[in-house]
Amino acid sequence: MGMQYDNENNPTFFVDAMLGNIAKKLRLMGYDSKYEPDIQDDDLINLARKEQRIIISRDENLVKKALKLEINSIFLEKKEETKQFREIIDKLNLKIIEINGDRARCPLCNTKTKSVNKDNVKSKIPIKILEQNAKFWECKNCGKIFWEGSHIRNLQKFVSELNER
Ligand SMILES: [Zn+2]
Repeated sequence: MGMQYDNENNPTFFVDAMLGNIAKKLRLMGYDSKYEPDIQDDDLINLARKEQRIIISRDENLVKKALKLEINSIFLEKKEETKQFREIIDKLNLKIIEINGDRARCPLCNTKTKSVNKDNVKSKIPIKILEQNAKFWECKNCGKIFWEGSHIRNLQKFVSELNER
């Protein structure tokens, strides 16, 4: 089965509708993850095939259809998010997930975020946050600015739960 890796050798994903939180977390973990909440099944399958992305879905029929077309797909059986991530990690044999702000993608639009100098984002950030954080990242696509509190720390807890097992 063809499987697309990004230039850092990580798998890329197409996350099915209703799994937006999974897509956001994968992006923050640095995985290129497409997510279009309103896409039709057939369009999703075609795009995933074209871009050789691994489909992640809770829709058994969609996964069956995709597998028949030899598109790498992961059917999530579990409802709970930590368990769903375990399913993904186990299926792909992903190494222990690590959080690195410089590797993260924008949770909103999937673009790689770039580290930015504090002085350059001063005008866009509440003063309190400026005082409390040293590192900032910017999404060059949607313009959103992130700091450790928003970008990483929230995820840290989730990841430590994941790695506990
Ligand atoms: Zn963005």
